[in-house]
This record gives sequence, C-alpha cells and structure tokens, in this order.
Amino acid sequence: MKILSDFDGVWTDQEGEARFINESFTLEVASDLGLSAEDARSEFDGFLRAAHAAPDRHGWWPRGFLTAFVDEDELLATGAVCRYLDDGGDAPGAERWRVGIRRAGYGSAHEYGSEKFGPAMRTYLRDHGHGLVEGARGLCRRLRDARVELVIVSNSPTSKLRKLFNDAGIEESEGLRLVGDARKWWIENDEPRAEFAGRSVHLDRPHYRQILTREQPDLVIGDVASLDLAMPAAMRREGALQPSTQLVLRQSPNSAAWAVGQIALDPSERLVDRCVSSVVELEDLVKGP
Ligand SMILES: [Mg+2]
Repeated sequence: MKILSDFDGVWTDQEGEARFINESFTLEVASDLGLSAEDARSEFDGFLRAAHAAPDRHGWWPRGFLTAFVDEDELLATGAVCRYLDDGGDAPGAERWRVGIRRAGYGSAHEYGSEKFGPAMRTYLRDHGHGLVEGARGLCRRLRDARVELVIVSNSPTSKLRKLFNDAGIEESEGLRLVGDARKWWIENDEPRAEFAGRSVHLDRPHYRQILTREQPDLVIGDVASLDLAMPAAMRREGALQPSTQLVLRQSPNSAAWAVGQIALDPSERLVDRCVSSVVELEDLVKGP
C-alpha cells in the first residue's frame, strides 16, 4: 500500500501558530491605529466573517488564481482580512482601518499585512519550536513494519521536511520519501474546475497531477481539501487514479464545514471519503502491501 501525504497541518499542528499570528496582527493594528485591543480584535473578527461569507473572493491567491479557500486554513485569515479591506469592505471599523493603515505609511492593507505576517510567524516558531505531532515516530515505524510506502508531498521545501522528520528521529528510507516544492497550489489555466458544495475548485494543477500520476497512491491525506484532495478526486473520477483510492481529510476543530460534509456524498461526487483528527489514525486505514 502507498500513502501520499501532505505535510504542514497533517504532520504538524498549525492552530497555535495561526492563533498567535492573528492575535499579533490585531495587537499591531491596535498600536498603529490607536485602538483598544478589544476593538481591534472584534473588528478583525467581523472582517473575517465577511470574508468567509464570500469564499470565491478570499483565500490563497498565487498567480492570480484562488487555489484554497479562506475557511480551509486559519493561516489565510490575515491575508483575507487585508484583501477585504482593500476591496472596500464596509463592516464596522473597515474605513478607520483603511485610513489608519494609509496614515501609518502603507499603500494598502495587503502591504501592511505582508509586513506583519513574517515576523509574527518567526517569533512563534522561535518561542514554541516547530515539530511533528505526537506519535509521528511510532506511526512511521509501524507503517514501515507493515511495508506501507509513505510519500510526503508538500509545498514546503524538502530541506524543511527532512529537518523536521530527522529532528523527530525519523530517517528517510525506501519506505519514506520526501517530495518538497510540489507546487500543488500552481494553477495553469482558469478551466477546468469542478463544483464541490457550491465551491468552484480549480483542477488545472499540472505539477500536482504529474506527481499523482507517477505515484498512483492508494490513499491521499491532506488538511486543505481544495489544495490536497480536489486533484486526486478529479483524477479518480476520470480514471487516472484507481477507483479504490481513498481521500482523507485531516480534520481540525476549524476545518471548513463544507469539506467535512463531503463524506456524506456519493463517492463519485465527493472529494473527502473520511476525516481523521490525527495523522496517527492512518494506522487503522492501512491494509498491508
Ligand atoms: Mg497542509
């Protein structure tokens, strides 16, 4: 059996990091704009709710294409809030945020947010470290003993994956391969797309398709359905992957409800077959070589 697994958000937990980045952002805004922390926080929450209500506008936008939706990944929240402000959103407080950000010397909320994101992330990782989830090492050992092949396919660089696995006492081997810089996010053309729970999801992802075609996994796991699972779901439907290929969402308390709800649909229509709360549950899904 072969598992193709995403890395960030599957082998790591990003909730603490996302919470810290959002909180740091609201504190910076409070300080730069002269607001109370409570007002900044509650206005930020209002902007984020408005962004969630317009998912076709908000999320991760590399190369001008929406490659993942804002409600799928908490780390997309500050970017979505900045886009909401730059788009002229009118939730309470939006105008004073725009004026304050301009007065602070920034051309746009996007520019302001981009400058705050990196330092907040680095501070969090410096203070809290960056490691694999509990049980990762034992899981890798048991998968290897069961002769399950594990291929980690991630947008992060291979060097980062190698360091984090090595730090956890897990070495690359025949049974564990690391494929970084996978560019799952890369969308070549606007079409084709597929509709899942009313979301129009891009499917022209040539780099990810090439990896999936080569690897022919029995199971794919990821934490962001549009980014990790839509491509294999489409390939399963068109016959480019086996009909038995399993699609698994690593679910967190903040996973998008529309993605989690996919499991109730017919297998030919859905992009998630089952949800697990931790990657260590993979052990229950393996069926040997
Ligand atoms: Mg991920």
